[in-house]
Amino acid sequence: MSEHREKETFEGRAPEAAAAGAPEPASVGTPEQGGLLAGQTAVVTGGSRGIGAAVCRAFVSAGARVAFLCREKGEGAAALEKELSPSAKAYSCDVSSAAQVDRIFREILEDFGRIDILVNNAGVTRDMLLLSMKEQDFDQVIDTNLKGVFNTIRQVYPLFARQKSGKIVNVSSVAGLTGNPGQANYSASKAGVIGLTKSVAKELASRGVCCNAVAPGFIETDMTAALAREKVLASIPAGRVGKPEEVAALILFLASPLSGYITGEVVRIDGGMAM
Ligand code: NAP
Repeated sequence: MSEHREKETFEGRAPEAAAAGAPEPASVGTPEQGGLLAGQTAVVTGGSRGIGAAVCRAFVSAGARVAFLCREKGEGAAALEKELSPSAKAYSCDVSSAAQVDRIFREILEDFGRIDILVNNAGVTRDMLLLSMKEQDFDQVIDTNLKGVFNTIRQVYPLFARQKSGKIVNVSSVAGLTGNPGQANYSASKAGVIGLTKSVAKELASRGVCCNAVAPGFIETDMTAALAREKVLASIPAGRVGKPEEVAALILFLASPLSGYITGEVVRIDGGMAM
């Protein structure tokens, strides 16, 4: 959204005034009402595969309409769009580009008319020891994983503030909590997401908007396919890796009215790995 539109839509109010007009807690959806997210529209970044695709499926099952973003709308994204039709639509958008994000959110608002939930899930890794890490390996990971979150939150911030409701769920990582050798760029980006989450949570809490982060451990997706599983398993008290659907269930909870009094929180979902 342009600065001009932002000024038009976001009427600045003192926190006390906002608190005085704070919305009533949302009522919890029931199956009779059509699901936990009935009538809501969600934007999910990185929705074409892995955790993001599981989130799209969980949200549509809960009654939401979903706009999902990926770099290229390839076969996987097209197949998911078809599977979830008519409740989901795929958009090609590199979240690290503010201009692309601005254009796509305009399109989404034209297509869906509103946004109630934003899930920042798109992410990449470029793992190597810092000694070998090139500037572009650092920049690409920060630009996608951290600046991408800034780019999308900027789009919904004035909308959510004006409608006095909204849920933002950012996908961080246990690497952002503990650090990880070979992942200085990735860990820094995911730690940054946590700081961003808490700041936005504080800025928007009085407007009835929740902003939380999830910190997955080792989840079975393309991102972890090449990693040595046996070595990692020894560090997971649960003795197994996680499934994308398990992370999606947590994100569904944080995106739903069930979690209306939780904001600025970081929830680990890692089988005890970073305990
Ligand atoms: P994945 O299977 O590799 O999927 C990554 C998704 O992000 C894809 O949809 C990809 O789109 C999208 N994406 C990447 N760069 C993008 C960009 N610049 N703009 C738009 N979309 C982009 O990864 P995943 O394992 O599901 O991970 C999802 C999130 O969880 C990431 O933020 C990751 O850091 C985090 N996480 C994962 C694990 C794990 O163990 N898997 C653990 C902790 C945290 P394309 O299909 O177009 O490439």
